[in-house]
Amino acid sequence: MSAARIDEGAAGRLPLREDLAGLEPYGAPQLEVAARLNVNENPYAPSAGVIADIADSVARAAAGLNRYPDRDFMELRCALADYLADESGVRRAPELIWAGNGSNEVMLHLFQAFGGPGRSAVSFAPTYSMYHEYARDTNTRWIQRARLKDFMLDLELVEQTLRRERPALLLLASPNNPTGTALPLGDVKRILEAAEESGPLVDGEAASTIVVIDEAYAEFRREGTPSALELLEDAPHLVVSRTMSKAFGMAGLRLGYMTAAKAIIDAVMLVRLPYHLSAVTQAAALAALRHADELRAQVASLREERDRLVERLRAMGLRAVDSDANFVLFGPFEDRRAVFDALVERGVLIRVVGPEGWLRVSIGTPEETAAFVTALEEVIS
Ligand SMILES: *Cc1c(COP(=O)(O)O)cnc(C)c1O
Repeated sequence: MSAARIDEGAAGRLPLREDLAGLEPYGAPQLEVAARLNVNENPYAPSAGVIADIADSVARAAAGLNRYPDRDFMELRCALADYLADESGVRRAPELIWAGNGSNEVMLHLFQAFGGPGRSAVSFAPTYSMYHEYARDTNTRWIQRARLKDFMLDLELVEQTLRRERPALLLLASPNNPTGTALPLGDVKRILEAAEESGPLVDGEAASTIVVIDEAYAEFRREGTPSALELLEDAPHLVVSRTMSKAFGMAGLRLGYMTAAKAIIDAVMLVRLPYHLSAVTQAAALAALRHADELRAQVASLREERDRLVERLRAMGLRAVDSDANFVLFGPFEDRRAVFDALVERGVLIRVVGPEGWLRVSIGTPEETAAFVTALEEVIS
């Protein structure tokens, strides 16, 4: 279905917020084609063992659905803490973990608690387009500056923007979407220092800017690329956000999470809706997490596939950005829309996103990647 705009006649009668009039809802096309490589999903469906465990757990949860779920989802927080420790070597107390229906909800919670009228939030483009919507939806002023030509951050520009704008929130995706670029920890450290007193004035004193490192794609990072989880101990204003939607292969589950200092978790608990994580979600997420090991093999092969694809695109004479994620930004094309359309005609769906002239392709199965490469060769020859 195509995105519906609120029609003019109805908008005349409904008290729709003026800043929403004429806008279209966010959403990439969901087309039924052979190779869907447009929203960075894991191409591998859960195994029979995982499906059976989820079904069992959900059946047990169903027996108690007359009751509200565990509001504080402690069992799930413990399991997420164990997963993070395994994945990154950083052990976090379960109380320092927060989850929501996708990391999108977790980040919206942060805006609800720390943004709002009179507050601002910053990011550096090209980056994830949803950040701007969290700001819009919470009436937080949105400030967007540019990344460097190689899609890294200009640290001086970051520092200057913090000084000038006094934002409540700074959002940085690492690895970044749609470029795949990971931030060196040295950069994050410098930004955390600059953010210590760069936030809005609270009772006449400068608060910190909350620095959100969105690690939705962290599991795909290349060997030697560290996670910002390592910096949490010394940074009370740092949030690291993760999700089960990408590497974990559970986009349909809707489970994202973050870890941060206790004061930040306490703040988001003020704004969350009561019982926001359903008993079914909690049960399914716990079951999926019990199978985390199975994923490791998949993630390793997707990373190899990605590195091969980067080489392949370069061999075709294109530019492809080094990626720490499960997608590759490539180009440039004089008419990227035409390339996108020609690929759809050949059964391959990718994404028109990023700077003018560039396109993004998600890493699929080897067969899907091969179909993409063959189609692209045809289109550009
Ligand atoms: C996909 C993605 C997310 C994940 O969103 P969920 O709500 O957890 O599915 C978060 N941040 C970025 C940059 C993404 O690309």
